Amino acid sequence: MTTQLDLSRAPAPQPRSLAGLSLPALKAEMEAMGVPEKKAGMRAKQLRGWVHHFGVTDFDAMTNVAKEMRAELAARYTLARPEIAEHRISVDGTQKWLTRFGPNVEGESVYIPDVGKSGALCVSSQVGCTLNCTFCHTGTQKLVRNLTAQEIVAQVLIARDELAEWPSSNEDRKLTNIVFMGMGEPLYNLDNVAEAIDTISDGDGIAIGRRRITVSTAGVAPKIPELGARTGAMLAISLHAVRDDLRNEIVPINRKYDLKTLFEAIRAYPDLGNSKRVTFEYVMLAGVNDSLAEARDLIKLLRGVPAKINLIPFNPWPGAPYACSDWETIEAFADVLNRAGYASPIRTPRGRDIFAACGQLRSESVKKSAAELRREALAAE
Ligand code: SAH
Repeated sequence: MTTQLDLSRAPAPQPRSLAGLSLPALKAEMEAMGVPEKKAGMRAKQLRGWVHHFGVTDFDAMTNVAKEMRAELAARYTLARPEIAEHRISVDGTQKWLTRFGPNVEGESVYIPDVGKSGALCVSSQVGCTLNCTFCHTGTQKLVRNLTAQEIVAQVLIARDELAEWPSSNEDRKLTNIVFMGMGEPLYNLDNVAEAIDTISDGDGIAIGRRRITVSTAGVAPKIPELGARTGAMLAISLHAVRDDLRNEIVPINRKYDLKTLFEAIRAYPDLGNSKRVTFEYVMLAGVNDSLAEARDLIKLLRGVPAKINLIPFNPWPGAPYACSDWETIEAFADVLNRAGYASPIRTPRGRDIFAACGQLRSESVKKSAAELRREALAAE
């Protein structure tokens, strides 16, 4: 038996959005549109300025592009952002977006005021995650898929729209820093993360400098030096344990890349020094990793690495098998670090009321098999 596709019933293809595309991708689109190669680069640069510096969402705003060209662009493309499925604002000013990148592909981003120079956006690099860290809510959601570079950049555009921060040269910007600390493991999606960082840091576009972009990894050791070489971003390591036996349990990627391997990779990160330190994140889990002996071992482990430490009070989620260390324990742990010269290392939890704090992000998206998708499409007819 043969099956035939009835193309007359297939939905019309959606026009593609140019918002969030990198400069080389914009150039490729211009060439695909028939713009001669010589002119495509110039056109791409014009578009980059309008879309990522001015944040326009209408081709007609592009006053230095000829009218016919604008009409042609509008016929083929949009400047739309992905749909916002949910937007919540916390009592502390933190904002969270759940963005729909496609059917059943939803990921979260969080804007945190008053961190970095004036405010940071925490972006997701994947929907779901493969790592299964035992204290992380995202870890309970299977990987749905990697986000594209365009989808990563779109999270920044959405935040800028909401904060009314166009053009990017705006003097007192509220969004000055980007952290890849949302859903997913950025180093398992390094090509797209690197392309997104190129776009975000482009001075003629979104203009958030590489030194204000931090990529956090649970420890994909072989990719760490490559991250530095390709992006120039700041590095953060989700450490959480100072011994292999405990780290194997709570950050299971440690079974593949143990502490020794991890620290060799960290030491190979390019340009480390006083002005470029590695941030070590350490979640405070009551009775698990919060003893003073562990604080002292942490200092030993970091010897010789230009480092900052971020103690993160554990943020609870439904069914989590941990509790947050009590405040005295966290302060005593921090005291040991302070005495060793690490300044104010406790990270204040933000946005807990809207479930936007570290490790609380999770969406309902699940990966569906091709067969499931076909069944659903049939059922919808
Ligand atoms: N996969 C990357 C990027 C995610 S960053 C990484 O692991 O670094 C998210 C940060 O929040 C990580 O440091 C993670 O360890 C931390 N985190 C996860 N669950 C948490 C929780 N319940 N409470 C506090 N921090 C948590």
